[in-house]
Amino acid sequence: MSDAGSPRPAPADQAFWGPDFSELERIDPEIAEITLAELDRLRGGLQLIASENLTSPAVLAALGSTLSNKYAEGYPGHRYYGGCAEVDRAESLAIERAKTLFGAEHTNMQPHSGANANLAVYAAFAQPGDPVLAMSLPHGGHLTHGSKVSFSGKWFTPIPYHVDKSTELIDYDEVRDLALTHRPKIIVAGATAYPRLIDFAKFRQIADEVGAILWVDAAHFIGLVAGGAIPSPVPYADVVSATTHKVLRGPRGGMLLCRAEHAKAVDKAVFPFSQGGPLMHSIAAKAVALKEAASDEYRAYASSVVDNAAAMTKALEAGGMRAVSGGTDTHLALLDLRELGVSGAEAERRCEAARITLNKNAIPFDPAPPMVASGIRVGSAAVTTQGFGTDDCAAVGALIARAVRAEDGTTAGDAELADVAREVSELVARKPAYPRQAPQSSAAAGDGAR
Ligand SMILES: *Cc1c(COP(=O)(O)O)cnc(C)c1O
Repeated sequence: MSDAGSPRPAPADQAFWGPDFSELERIDPEIAEITLAELDRLRGGLQLIASENLTSPAVLAALGSTLSNKYAEGYPGHRYYGGCAEVDRAESLAIERAKTLFGAEHTNMQPHSGANANLAVYAAFAQPGDPVLAMSLPHGGHLTHGSKVSFSGKWFTPIPYHVDKSTELIDYDEVRDLALTHRPKIIVAGATAYPRLIDFAKFRQIADEVGAILWVDAAHFIGLVAGGAIPSPVPYADVVSATTHKVLRGPRGGMLLCRAEHAKAVDKAVFPFSQGGPLMHSIAAKAVALKEAASDEYRAYASSVVDNAAAMTKALEAGGMRAVSGGTDTHLALLDLRELGVSGAEAERRCEAARITLNKNAIPFDPAPPMVASGIRVGSAAVTTQGFGTDDCAAVGALIARAVRAEDGTTAGDAELADVAREVSELVARKPAYPRQAPQSSAAAGDGAR
């Protein structure tokens, strides 16, 4: 742990911030110290939040660049401001790389986040009040898929579909029935806590039957698509929204991929309808991440992410947890803890005490309120970036199982959590996040070869 008296980073660490870190220390030692403490946190424990990853030094360098200064409302070649020649090149590279990597006819790289990308989809394809068919939030859907606390549920009419109670897989019969009854403007496929593959062809069929737009929200899994580890929604969807910071391992941000016929509507929905000036430093960093994602190393990474999630899930099942839907095909798994008599909130707290960062999560048909929850969600994207393999991930699963069962606040439980924390430290010391030696190349951040 760092404190106010924390030593300066080792010279090699400064590669993560560029040569200007000393300037940050001089101007704002408090924020400088926080960035070091956060690096310590990343290095000192296991990051299993399924939506997080560890970006490469190259992506961080682009994020920390002077491209942040530029106002560039509009699109490459059609800006409202002068001086955009250089940022135009950055955005054009991001666009071309995304189109090539995903085989998309059109792409918009400007959404500031996944939620912003989703707002633009509503703006492009629906009017206020229109029915939108999407996965129920407690069954794995996202806030922007019709929650009452989001614009999506306030300004549109959400029709939620669910997973089947026994298989815990999307109930495609219900999706079709609801589509035929409500005639939605948009049908949304994609979720935030669904561990299995989605049948995009089936969704396409249903959308065609009722004349709806098919929108795939690939925020979580677009990185697996980029690496060829799971099938792509692009051939099926009218529009695909995504984040760039989850498995894809780029800067925080969003992007949209769509058919050429929707290009104008989508671009106008992003700017000027819902955003102002684009974050050009972030768009440049997206271009870097897309270049990395087109590499052979990244393809190996993506397939290893899936293998690792499966290995972790197996170990968690061996530890007495039930894998929702019986397993995972992706980077994430959802575990039902009811047989252990432990809530999701308790599990999250105990794991945190053992330096394992994960989140409590509602399971389908969860009897517990969302702030308590009966499950946890784990993801393998970040640990795979730091070079973990299936053996390591099986070990991680076993450590989680021990932490979850340790009754914190009791002498024995706290001793067990300290013990697990020690083993976590040993595990991450062997394959650290942001290893202390100077990074050799941007691609090295995820090649697992260290
Ligand atoms: C993460 C996520 C989003 C939102 O992304 P932010 O960048 O956090 O706004 C949208 N949809 C789904 C399915 C997600 O998982």
